Amino acid sequence: MTKPIKLTDRAAFQRFVDRYDTLLLDCDGVIWSAKTIIPGVLQVLKYFRKKGKQLLFVTNNSTRSRASNLKKLQTFGIEASEEEIFSSSYAAAYYLRHMIDFPKEKKVYIIGESGIEDELNLMGIKNTKADTDNGPMQNWDFADITPDPEIGAVLCGFDTFINYRKIAKAFFYLRTDPDCLFLLTNDDTTFPANGTVYPGSGSLSSSLITALNRKPDRVMGKPNKPMLDCIVDKYHLNVERTCMIGDRLDTDIQFGINGGIDTLLVLTGVSTEKEILAEDAPILPDYYVDSLSLLEIVNNL
Ligand code: PLP
Ligand code: CA
Repeated sequence: MTKPIKLTDRAAFQRFVDRYDTLLLDCDGVIWSAKTIIPGVLQVLKYFRKKGKQLLFVTNNSTRSRASNLKKLQTFGIEASEEEIFSSSYAAAYYLRHMIDFPKEKKVYIIGESGIEDELNLMGIKNTKADTDNGPMQNWDFADITPDPEIGAVLCGFDTFINYRKIAKAFFYLRTDPDCLFLLTNDDTTFPANGTVYPGSGSLSSSLITALNRKPDRVMGKPNKPMLDCIVDKYHLNVERTCMIGDRLDTDIQFGINGGIDTLLVLTGVSTEKEILAEDAPILPDYYVDSLSLLEIVNNL
């Protein structure tokens, strides 16, 4: 494998910028870290815009809609539009409407938060979810979990309100109807917060995968290809002139590799320089840089 190029000086950075028309920007770890903006990012984004780059914000976090992600960008003073945001929640809605023509009369059963519901509603896709649990096991008779012929897909994303009833219903729909689609917004095993990591969306959906002994039909988010297929379809991207910028080798960089696009790893998130310098590094970006900010390099450009 070719060794990644480290962007350390202005000339290298300019060569990088000139090489691409479209930059796919991962959010957490590149633009922000949980609730704070990564220093210098504002200036770099302005610089990319000045150079006429098409910027797309690509996040696996399914809990927010594009509108909600836009609000978050705006609270940091970042100028963007909803059209520039591609979350895994939007990707799922886009996929159902534009990539497979999900039947209009069918409903999607959701495990997830408002980001998924909002995007499905905007796309005119019927959906439903179970919010309440039955309490302790002795209260359950399971008799009210019945087939619903309107359910055409189960879509599982991240859900801090996860409960047994939600999982039991999803399991039931998938088990009793072999034509019911099984989709995940993303399958990140963990996500970073508060200086460590916590169980991610993939840790929630894995209970369904285990119970059903079945893999999902599609996983939208990075590193999987469906999200990139949706992005290329929507924006008619020239993949040769597109670069994925991310902080995580196993999601962002693998996403670029799977989709045949170049990649830049930033060291402001999960993955480290040590990982890419290891002799047997399994996933390598084309470029890497300490921080997207590169303040000292872009300052006088
Ligand atoms: N999923 C959840 C629930 C998250 O909170 C995050 C990051 O905060 C992610 C996934 C990863 O998001 P990104 O693709 O922007 O790094
Ligand atoms: Ca990230």
